[in-house]
Amino acid sequence: MKLIVIDPGHGGADPGAMFKNYQEKNFNFAIARMIRDRLVSKYDVEVIMTRETDKNVDLKSRTDLANVIKADFFLSIHHNAAGGSGFESYIFNGSIPSETVQLQANIHDKLASTVLQKYSIRNRGKKRADFHVLRETKMSALLLEVLFIDNEADLKLMTNPTFLMEMATGIADATATALNLPVAPVPTEGLFKVIVGSFSKMENAEEQLKILIQKGFNAFIATATITNSTVYRVQAGAFKEKENAEALAVSLNKAGFETFILYEGSVPDPPEEPPEPDKGYKIEGKTVLTTEQMDSYVRSINPNAPLLGALYASYSQRYGIRGDVAFAQAIHETNFFRFTGDVRPEQNNFAGIGATGGGTRGATFSSPATGVLAHIQHLYAYSSTASLPKGDEKADPRFGLVKRGSATTWQALNGKWAVPGTNYGQLVLTQYKKMVQNSLISLNMEREKLQNTLNTIDI
Ligand SMILES: [Zn+2]
Repeated sequence: MKLIVIDPGHGGADPGAMFKNYQEKNFNFAIARMIRDRLVSKYDVEVIMTRETDKNVDLKSRTDLANVIKADFFLSIHHNAAGGSGFESYIFNGSIPSETVQLQANIHDKLASTVLQKYSIRNRGKKRADFHVLRETKMSALLLEVLFIDNEADLKLMTNPTFLMEMATGIADATATALNLPVAPVPTEGLFKVIVGSFSKMENAEEQLKILIQKGFNAFIATATITNSTVYRVQAGAFKEKENAEALAVSLNKAGFETFILYEGSVPDPPEEPPEPDKGYKIEGKTVLTTEQMDSYVRSINPNAPLLGALYASYSQRYGIRGDVAFAQAIHETNFFRFTGDVRPEQNNFAGIGATGGGTRGATFSSPATGVLAHIQHLYAYSSTASLPKGDEKADPRFGLVKRGSATTWQALNGKWAVPGTNYGQLVLTQYKKMVQNSLISLNMEREKLQNTLNTIDI
């Protein structure tokens, strides 16, 4: 099996070229890692990186490593700066075997006719230079200056995750072809795929991908067709072993991402057992508290809270949902409508719809009414399998992402509405109980007042 050393340029205290807040070392590392992942997942090849983290490794250590482990090929990834744009590649300008010249030509030309052409990137040509990593390596070595960090057009591409993925894939595939790497027998089925969001719009998938890459995860966008429409799934990994997929899901969850694991295989699924009924307090039901009771409770804590009781009462009645518990959920999500989390007040998003953590703002609704309706619809998506009431538009942008009827109680929302979450429903119900208790106290006071009045009337 061939052995490739991939060398992400710079690192640690050595940022390489800099522009605005961007540092070359990070782009080098991101692309290098994607190239590595592509190579080892698709081809029969071993890949070693000269650095696996953001640390400073001197040039001698990099070439020493490659020489000691007798690598077959050394690929260094850099980005350019200081006046210019486009892609160029380098091999040593001293005496080198013709094989190295051939490898540069194969890889460079392949990229030119694919990624460079597709994105109209300037081809600066195949060059030669006396760089340490090219001179001191005993095997064929190639250095790529992918794009110019200080060129606005280039930078725009470099911050586009789809482009990064295509460039990295292009480099990996071109290298594999040039080195004649055998394609690994890829398991096309029986894989547990870790999906970090499934979107109907490509832009939204790209946005998610960008955040993932910024947070140090590797992912790409896979398209699938579900009931005649295209969905864009952001896939962070695929594993033969379920445990490995779960481990990745856990670390993604810790970083604030909502995930699900998709199994794709031909092994017949075990016969589906009838689902156990959810335990706990039903989402469906009647609203018990009055509009005034809801509003006065929230105002007793936050005098500036908007008066949404009426909206919750009326929409929830139409959907057969406990509107006062939904109201308690909104209190829980917004911290009494103070919006101390990621969602801003002007979004009218009272249920944290799409705000999946890590600073993600989530959905925005044009009015408080639409926001409340979306909240009730999202609950309805979980609690019921029926279609929307006649004449109602879909206000909840994530309605289609919910497995219909998959949570019929507030407790069953644990790990679904809030991920990870083991007591989300309980927290909502605790808030609801406080509201009911508070209303009961007010009623008792009212009752006492009336009783006293009665007692003092002498006829
Ligand atoms: Zn550099």
